[in-house]
Amino acid sequence: MQTITLTTPTYELPHVNRVHVEKLEILGVRNVGQLLVHLPHRHEWIRAQSGLGDLEVGMIGSAIGEITATKLSGYGRKKRFQAVLMDETGRLELVFFNQAYLAKKLHVGMYLRVQGKPTRFGPGLQMNSPMYSIIPFDEVKNLNVDQNDEYRPVYPACEGITSEQIRTIVRAVLDQACALLEDHLSDDYRKDRELPTLGEAYRMIHAPESEAEVTWARRRLAYDELLMLQLGVHMKRAHLRQTLKAPPLSRTPEINQRILTRMPFALTPAQQRVVDEISRDLSFETPTNRLVQGDVGSGKTVVALDAMLLAIAHGHQGALMAPTELLAEQHYLLITEMLKGSTVQVELLTGSMPPADRAGVVEKIASGECDLVIGTHALVSESVAFHSLAVAVIDEQHRFGVEQRARLRVKGGQSAKNSQESETPHVIVMTATPIPRTIGLTIFGDLDISTIDALPPGRTPVTTKHVTPEKRSTVYHWVNEKIKSGDQVFIVVAAIEPGGKEGSIRDLRSLMKELEGGELHDVRIAALHGRLKRDTREHIMHRFRAGKIDCLVATTVIEVGVDVPNATVMVIEDADRFGLAQLHQLRGRVGRGKKPGVCVLIGHPKTEDGIARLQAMVETNSGFELSERDLEIRGSGDVFGTRQSGAPPFKVADPLKEFELLQMARRDAGHWIGKSPKLDRPEDALARRRLLKTHGQWLGLGDVG
Ligand code: ADP
Ligand code: MG
Repeated sequence: MQTITLTTPTYELPHVNRVHVEKLEILGVRNVGQLLVHLPHRHEWIRAQSGLGDLEVGMIGSAIGEITATKLSGYGRKKRFQAVLMDETGRLELVFFNQAYLAKKLHVGMYLRVQGKPTRFGPGLQMNSPMYSIIPFDEVKNLNVDQNDEYRPVYPACEGITSEQIRTIVRAVLDQACALLEDHLSDDYRKDRELPTLGEAYRMIHAPESEAEVTWARRRLAYDELLMLQLGVHMKRAHLRQTLKAPPLSRTPEINQRILTRMPFALTPAQQRVVDEISRDLSFETPTNRLVQGDVGSGKTVVALDAMLLAIAHGHQGALMAPTELLAEQHYLLITEMLKGSTVQVELLTGSMPPADRAGVVEKIASGECDLVIGTHALVSESVAFHSLAVAVIDEQHRFGVEQRARLRVKGGQSAKNSQESETPHVIVMTATPIPRTIGLTIFGDLDISTIDALPPGRTPVTTKHVTPEKRSTVYHWVNEKIKSGDQVFIVVAAIEPGGKEGSIRDLRSLMKELEGGELHDVRIAALHGRLKRDTREHIMHRFRAGKIDCLVATTVIEVGVDVPNATVMVIEDADRFGLAQLHQLRGRVGRGKKPGVCVLIGHPKTEDGIARLQAMVETNSGFELSERDLEIRGSGDVFGTRQSGAPPFKVADPLKEFELLQMARRDAGHWIGKSPKLDRPEDALARRRLLKTHGQWLGLGDVG
């Protein structure tokens, strides 16, 4: 065979025809290297082949035969497809239930390879829904008989190329390709950790001789994924520590006193602990990078305010970035209220402000006239330059990507004495979507984590109920009664306008009409959604807060942060349409005052996941527990490769199941970066190159080293 390299294109490889080239490209495979990393998603045992007549009852066996007859019987959903398979040694009956489409796929004269456990059927044998593959006609003539049991890879495939075909293509180049792989881990390093070489790992995963080989190979590949991510995260962190300086902000008793007088209530012990943790961070020149997680309503805002006031007391600026305009506006109102009578200049900056107002605020931020700015991601737009930003807070971090955090970080200040010294703010991110420990360690390995693990006093937990849509009228009658007794209500819908392809969901407009003409005809009701002008929205929120509106029918714009203590009832229409984190956030809008809250989920979940989500909501009020449940329902893959992290998803590793491997990778990465912070020793070159390739971009490692 020709010599190949890792960059040899697929069209030069044996067994690859024109169609294959096209199809492989769809799968992301253009050359030998990409073929190697196109990993099987599972493996299955293929039993040594025998003649049909040699199959034994109750033993998994495999054989090839020609289809000599087919039959489709039964009615409706109970369709049954049967086929008879023959070879020179015997006959086997195949039965498939509820797979009527097979009648169009399997025809007399075709050759099939089947595998399964035969049962006795009259005088002969039968296999019920066996594994099967159709043998292409051009291969029928020279069928090679498998002599041994084989643990065979099953590849992600697509229309036009089968897993079997991919396997054949891979097999032909595997040994040569694996021999070309250079390992970024030294022999000693690997031996200490009982890991195979990279070449061995790829050989074993594509052509295993046993199940144990697959396990061993996966361990190496998973370790590599975890290690690379951890190296990236540690490298980034070391870089920040060494090259960036933030203003040290000490908390003197005098400053402390001044801040305390601004707080409308005593901090809970949980809040106080987190404030202390943050204060300690802020007292150093090393830029703070801390995640504050606390359930909905745990009181994160004042913790953030405390840190920003510390910056201002030292003559610097503070910034608070919120994910939505509504939330930014609300923070602005609350914080202005708390700071009334102080000298602190607070400004609001959002994308929808009139350009002239916006320019005015931008100017005040640059001159330092503004001490505290609250805004949306407009804060990180290019036109915004701070005079001296010392504390940047990102609220509801799950709504932002890692990039925005990075962009806020470079907003340090223009006032740094010389340009050598990179001035950067301390960064605090806050989230009510608690991050399970594993994910925290994996993705946010560059963050320290503080947890506000208790709610402020006087909260009564929200009671959650699930009702089916038939009971809607009863629900809204009850809502009317609640309003009559002085409570306020949120109703959340999944869409603004009627129609669209999801015709079955209740939209804001129709629901308003329905309620105004029906159960809620005698209450003050208003609509709130993201398409309204900011003034209108502010006006509505203001009136709702002041008790001049009884019932707000809204989209998920109210999801985060909206804080109206007298609102005690939340009704969510089509609740099964929302994710668990979102439902929990929405529910967090009620029960914020002295009166207990009630959350009614209306929905008719059609999927298992949907049922599981609603059930979880009814069963627990704890955001932490919900996030664990969410992880179970969705699986880790979904969580890892998300906006939440920005990280490319893992192909092999499952940090939830392989916690021990994760910890090992984390420890190893820490040591490695400790010895070689920029990975610039000659022996690190390969690891460095591979690291930058996978994680360089999203981690912004380009500037490192
Ligand atoms: P979240 O963590 O969801 O952002 P908030 O900061 O909005 O929570 O606080 C929720 C509510 O609890 C607000 O009304 C706030 O004023 C109130 N609150 C926060 N801390 C305390 C406290 N220590 N004592 C009493 N009420 C508090
Ligand atoms: Mg909040």
